[in-house]
Amino acid sequence: MLSSDSVLKLSQLRSPLLTVYLDVSCERSFPSAPSSPCLTWLKAQANVIAEHVPAEELPSFWREVQRVGSTLQNSAPLRAGLIIFSGPDAGEQIFMDVPICNEMHWGRPAIGQLLSVIGVRQPSCVLVVDRSRARFFRYWLGELKPLEEIIFVSARSTWKRKDLGHVETPGIKKTRGSQRDAFEHRREAEYQRWHRHLGERATAWCRKEASPWLFLAGSKRQTEEISKALPSDLRRHASFLAADLGPMRPIAIKRLIAPKIESRAAEQSDRQLTDLLEGGGGSVMGVDATMFQLQARRMDSVLLAEGFDSDLHECESCGLVARSADPVCVACGHARRRAALSEVLPGLAANCGARLEVIGREAGRRLARAGGIGGWLRKERLAAHG
Ligand SMILES: [Zn+2]
Repeated sequence: MLSSDSVLKLSQLRSPLLTVYLDVSCERSFPSAPSSPCLTWLKAQANVIAEHVPAEELPSFWREVQRVGSTLQNSAPLRAGLIIFSGPDAGEQIFMDVPICNEMHWGRPAIGQLLSVIGVRQPSCVLVVDRSRARFFRYWLGELKPLEEIIFVSARSTWKRKDLGHVETPGIKKTRGSQRDAFEHRREAEYQRWHRHLGERATAWCRKEASPWLFLAGSKRQTEEISKALPSDLRRHASFLAADLGPMRPIAIKRLIAPKIESRAAEQSDRQLTDLLEGGGGSVMGVDATMFQLQARRMDSVLLAEGFDSDLHECESCGLVARSADPVCVACGHARRRAALSEVLPGLAANCGARLEVIGREAGRRLARAGGIGGWLRKERLAAHG
């Protein structure tokens, strides 16, 4: 699976290289047949792209097209989507479980669509608990991956032996009621320890998987107690489902919780966007302002509308990026080249130390209408949040 760090590394691969996004959902098995829809599209699209490839780069272009073709022919049965970066020192293939659209690009790594797929869906940690066990999962890009299973082991059998021993000791007489109270008390304490431990494990998994979300399913009492053991940031981003999913297989759990996780993410994007559009202190809106503040290293976080891109120009020497089409750089006087926003954004965000998030659906469309990109400045954001 891919992290935002990997996206950054891909965006920095040496160019020119060939980027291919393939919808492979129509491939029934090995795409080695000459009639394979993917291979047919690849050949046709290569001919279209080749018309715009500089003459001196054509031999490498066709070499990479051929490499991608043989990768396809030799690959195992394919999943929903396949992304290939193919160049002299790059041969990255990413298999996705989510639908993607066919695209082919020559030049810099074209990570726009990849960024949308990754950025829209942050991973969620899922904890399914019942009286006998707890199962942790990671939900991301339509996949529910098991992380850990913890079986609840009660020390109850040892207490019974001790309690019986006490009863049989001459001189010590306990009423049945107080025995039962002591037993209940210990059982209660044991459950509390178990729930606290699960809260700590859930926190550790969320931190390890870089997941801001926790989805917790269990009885009302269990979810309440576990949530008490969560740090406040995680508790704010937790969703609870009071239901016993204990006997369910992962595939059934996934079917049940996927729509809930997706709508929770959409709500969160909506809130963030409303916050941004209301434009309190430290908010930045639009391509020009965001590019300027990012390069001044003042941005704390950046929101990008899914599918939004913009034509920019980048200095070949100092790397300064702006929308103006001046042939020379205002900072150093060197030549500038065209660059898509999606190509340069992951690198700029990483240099600035800003969190980059891509938002989709209705919130994404609202952001696109309002300028496509925006975010918050670091200092003001910190001050506003104490
Ligand atoms: Zn420059």
